[in-house]
Amino acid sequence: MRSLITVLLAGTVLGGCATTPPPPPPPPPAAVTEAVPPAPDPAPVPKAQFGTFGFDNAGMDTSVAPGDDFYLYANGNWAKNTPIPPDKSNFGAFTVLQDLSRQRVRDILEAAKEDPASRIGMAYASFLDEAGVEAKGLTPITPWLDKVRALKSRGNYAELEAEAARNGIGGLFSGGVTQDDRNTDVYIVALSQAGLGLPDRDMYLLNDPNFVSLRAGYVDHLTKMLTLAGETNAAPRARAILDFETRIAKVSWTREDVGDATKTYNKMSLAQLRKLAPGFDWATYLKTRGADLNDLLIGEPSAFRDIAALSTKVPLQVLKDQLLVQSLDAYANVLPKAVADENFAFYGTKLNGTPENQPRWKRAVDFTTGILDDDVSKLYVAKWFPPESKAAMDRLVANIIAAMGRRIDNLSWMAPETKVKAKAKLAAFTPRIGYPTQWHDYTFDVRPDDLFGNAMRANQWAHDWDIHKLGHEIYRWEWSFDPMTVNAQANFKLVAITFPAAILQPPYFDPNADPAVNYGGIGAVIGHEMSHHFDDQGSKYDIKGNLSDWWTPKDVQNFKALTGRLVKEYDAYEVFPGAHVKGEFTLGENIGDLAGIQAAYDAYHTLLGGQEPPVIDGTTGDQRFYLGWAQVWRRNYREANLRARLLTDPHSPSPQRAWIVRNFDPWYPAFKVQPGQKLYLEPADRVRIW
Ligand SMILES: [Zn+2]
Repeated sequence: MRSLITVLLAGTVLGGCATTPPPPPPPPPAAVTEAVPPAPDPAPVPKAQFGTFGFDNAGMDTSVAPGDDFYLYANGNWAKNTPIPPDKSNFGAFTVLQDLSRQRVRDILEAAKEDPASRIGMAYASFLDEAGVEAKGLTPITPWLDKVRALKSRGNYAELEAEAARNGIGGLFSGGVTQDDRNTDVYIVALSQAGLGLPDRDMYLLNDPNFVSLRAGYVDHLTKMLTLAGETNAAPRARAILDFETRIAKVSWTREDVGDATKTYNKMSLAQLRKLAPGFDWATYLKTRGADLNDLLIGEPSAFRDIAALSTKVPLQVLKDQLLVQSLDAYANVLPKAVADENFAFYGTKLNGTPENQPRWKRAVDFTTGILDDDVSKLYVAKWFPPESKAAMDRLVANIIAAMGRRIDNLSWMAPETKVKAKAKLAAFTPRIGYPTQWHDYTFDVRPDDLFGNAMRANQWAHDWDIHKLGHEIYRWEWSFDPMTVNAQANFKLVAITFPAAILQPPYFDPNADPAVNYGGIGAVIGHEMSHHFDDQGSKYDIKGNLSDWWTPKDVQNFKALTGRLVKEYDAYEVFPGAHVKGEFTLGENIGDLAGIQAAYDAYHTLLGGQEPPVIDGTTGDQRFYLGWAQVWRRNYREANLRARLLTDPHSPSPQRAWIVRNFDPWYPAFKVQPGQKLYLEPADRVRIW
C-alpha cells in the first residue's frame, strides 16, 4: 500500500497544465556575471542565493575527480566544514529549509499567542507552559493508563486497542481509511501489521553488534518507561515485551513485501478476516473505531493470522505492559520532562545518535503545526509563498511533463499500445503546487492550559475525520503534508504530484539562479515525482489511479529485467562494512531519481533551444545542471541515523542518490569521466529505463 511516495526522506488539486501544450519556455534570468558594466543609473542585479549562478562553489572538493565520487566533488568541502547541530540526526539542504520554515512559523505563533482568541496561539502557549506541564505530572494521562491496567480479560483487548488507535497510540495492528486501490472512487478501511516498538523487524532479528546493542537499549527504555508509569518489577516485564515483539517481528512481512502494492492488496469481508485471524475480536475492534463496514483491505494476511495467534498465547500482562509503554511513548512530548527525556534518550540518541532534544520552542512549533496544521498553513502561505513561484513552477512542470512524454515515445522496450496509455496517464497528472485549495476545519477544543488534552483531542479528531470519509466522495483537495514541509510527493491513487511551498526555495529553486541549476534541482525533483508514477509500484496504477494490469506481459517482463539491474547496482553499495543499500527496498526511489534527472535534462535542453549556454565561472551549462543535482542531496548523517535509515528509509543515502548520474550517458562527457574511475560504467552497464 505504498501509494504515497515522497522524494526525500521520506497528497490535492491545482490547475492542470498537464493537458494543455506547454507554454513557451521562460526567458533565462538576467546575467549574473559582471561582464556588462552597469548603465549610469544601475538597477540592482538579482543575485542568486548560492554562489554566482545558484551553486555553492566553495562547498566543492575539486581534489576529488568527479568520476570517482561526484557527490564529494560537488559537496566535499561543505561536508567537511558542516557540523551536525546537536539536536539533529542529520543535516543538509533539507534541514536548512526546515529550520527556515520553523523560524517563520515561530514568528506567526508568537504573534498569535498575544491574541487570546487564537486557537493556534493557545495550542502554542500550552506547549510553552513547561511549568504547568511539570506541575500536573502524569495526572492528565492517568485515567487512560488506569484503563489499560484495568483490562481484565483478553476478550476485551481488541476494544482497548481500538480506543488506543483513536488516541494515536500503537497496538498490534494499525491503519485507517484510504482510497480502495482497485476502485479509487471509494474509501475503504485498510489495516496493516504493527506491534513493534523498534522501527524495523530486522532490528529484532539481526545479530550485527549494532542491533544487539540497540535491543539492550530498548529493554532499558521499556524498563524505564514502566517504572515512570509507576510499575514495579519492571526489568523482567520489559524483557517479556521484547520477547513478544521479537515473535511478532519474525512473522511480520519485510519492507520489500510491505511496499508491494499487489501483494498487500487483499480485499476481504469481516467474516473472512475473522476466519483468517481468530483470537482477535475484529468486529468489536472495527465497531469501536466507528468503521463498521464489511469490506476491508488487509495488508499482510499471514502476519495478521500469526500476530492474532501470538496475542492469544502471550500473558495478558504483557499486552497491557506493551500498551502502557506505547501510551507514554506516543504522548512523551506533551508529558513531563522525565518522560520526554527518556523517550528522546532512546528514539533520539540511541536509535539515531542525536545528542540533544530540540529546544522547547521548536517542539512547540512542531506540535502546534501537527495538531492545527491548516490553521498555521493559511497564515504561512499568505506571507511566504509568492505567486511568481507558482507561475514559474507551472512552466517547469509543463516542460518536464513534455520531456517525459518524448522519452516514452522513444522507448524501445515498451509496446506501442502501452505507450499510448502511458502518455495518457502523463497527461492526466494533477500538479499540486504550493498549498491545497481547501483547508480542514478543526472542531476540537483547544485550551491554553491543557497540553495533554489538546494532543489527545487532536488525535481523536484526526481519527474521526478519517473514519467519516467512509461512504463519502473522495476529498481530492486533501494533502497529506503541509506547505511548510520541505518535500514533494507522488500520489498514485489521485494521479497527483505535490510540491509544497517550502521546497520552492534555494537550492532547489531560485528565480535568480542559472536555469541549469534549477533544472538540476527542482526540475529533477519534479521529474522524480512524475517518474514515481512509472516506478516499480506506481506503474501498476492506471490513468484513474486504479491498481490494474494495463501493461502487456512482455512490457512487464522487460521492465523487470531493467529494474533488476538497478537493484543490483544499488545492492552493491556498501555504506558501512557489511551494511549495504537495499536495492529492492530503494528501487522505486532510484528509478525516480534516474528517470527524473533524465527528464529534467531533456527539458533543460529544450529550453536552450539548440543554443549553447554561456560558460559561467568556467562551468558549462551541463556541468551546472549536474552540480545543481548534487547540491540538493548535500547531507551529513550521524552513523546511527544512517544505519537505521538503511533499514527504514526507502531512499538511498545522499551520496548514492547523487551517483545515479553514472547511468546517464551525457554526464560522462560533461566531466570527462574515464574508464577506471570509480563511478565509470561501461555503456552497456548503464541502466536506462524511462
Ligand atoms: Zn521519491
